[in-house]
Amino acid sequence: MKTFYIKTYGCQMNKYDSEFISSIFIENGYIETEKIENATFIVINTCSVRERAESKVYSEIARLNNLIKNSNVKIGICGCVAQHLGENIINKYNNVSFIIGTEGLFRLSDVLNRVEHGEKVIDVFFSENNFATGKFKRKPGVSAFVSIMKGCNNFCSYCIVPFVRGREISRKPNEIIDEIKYLRDLGYKEITLLGQNVNSYGKNLDESINFPKFLSMVNNIDGIERIRFVTSHPKDFNEELISTMKDCEKVCEHVHLPLQSGSDRILKMMSRKYTYKEYIEKIYKLKKSINNVAVTSDFIVGFPGETLDDFNNTLNAVKEIGYHTIYAFMYSPRPGTKAAEIDDNIDKDEKKRRLSELINLQSNITYKINKSYEGKTTDVLIEGFSKKNANILMGRNRQNQIVNFVSSKLLEQGTIAQVRIREGKKNSLFGEFIN
Ligand code: SF4
Repeated sequence: MKTFYIKTYGCQMNKYDSEFISSIFIENGYIETEKIENATFIVINTCSVRERAESKVYSEIARLNNLIKNSNVKIGICGCVAQHLGENIINKYNNVSFIIGTEGLFRLSDVLNRVEHGEKVIDVFFSENNFATGKFKRKPGVSAFVSIMKGCNNFCSYCIVPFVRGREISRKPNEIIDEIKYLRDLGYKEITLLGQNVNSYGKNLDESINFPKFLSMVNNIDGIERIRFVTSHPKDFNEELISTMKDCEKVCEHVHLPLQSGSDRILKMMSRKYTYKEYIEKIYKLKKSINNVAVTSDFIVGFPGETLDDFNNTLNAVKEIGYHTIYAFMYSPRPGTKAAEIDDNIDKDEKKRRLSELINLQSNITYKINKSYEGKTTDVLIEGFSKKNANILMGRNRQNQIVNFVSSKLLEQGTIAQVRIREGKKNSLFGEFIN
């Protein structure tokens, strides 16, 4: 029996790619297994955003080689790190049968075929006009990612994405709408539109379309109840988008808008193309226009040259904006980027100290926000049961907060339930079903 197991690192885009990889393996007669030791083919879908990504992939393969012992088990490497690895890794490890970069995924079926005939395949070519995945076979579910564009033209000085995912390319709107209708027919209720720079959607297309217009088109699809989108770049987040969000009842009251630093000096060094003032003005407009909107963000601490004053500006920004949550990371250089040429002069312990100060600050803010929901009702799209307790249902509200709740009524996945919040916890809400 041919079985496969996929290990996925990184962002939503990688999770989406893994769903695509899984569909291709199934199409080629493989059965998915949740236990790595039962797999005859192991796929590692890699991410290069974190530190030492390549060496981690090498050690993961070495670990797998020890674990699998069976020389018939094959390994495939996909994703951003694969783009860099090429033949080095194929030559080094016998079990590695293919390396496919982010751009070669749509050729995976052919690659699998070649591997089954004894070839070892390296496919790390960029294919300018091909959208890697397109519509593919999915399992039924509640909430789906749909990639609407790939690549990025922004070249933030610290980021490897434009090098491993290439330039921005948008998918044709009718193809995406077709995919969303297919997901709707499978029972999906919520769609998250994905792109490294999702709100610059449409710029390379012949038809006259932009992200707000496309959002309105998705909003008109019957049967889809909720629409989300990630990740927006602050420079492309404009009034047209805010007013479209307001007009489209299915678009959730949640925006992920990475600020990265509260210091204009650091933002400039990061090549982010906005100032803190420009950013906060957009946030004020957003909060004024859309009731109860949740804003979340990403931050990098310890960027080269970040002084304590710069870092304090970041802390002040977090206090001023009152994010629902943030994702914060210590800076580490990505070889090949502009920032990697600057002396990484902040000591690791100091980076850790700043990171934990920022995370502690945000934890208190998140807790306060969660507490403020106590006694209120919120609409929850049910995803399933809580991981810790099978008698408790779990879902998300429109602000993307995790809500666990009890219900005396039998409720199905995909239902939108009105839940009264009994308790705001550190990272989630707890409540009871009322309707
Ligand atoms: S916008 Fe900047 S951080 Fe985001 S993917 Fe593009 S280059 Fe990277």
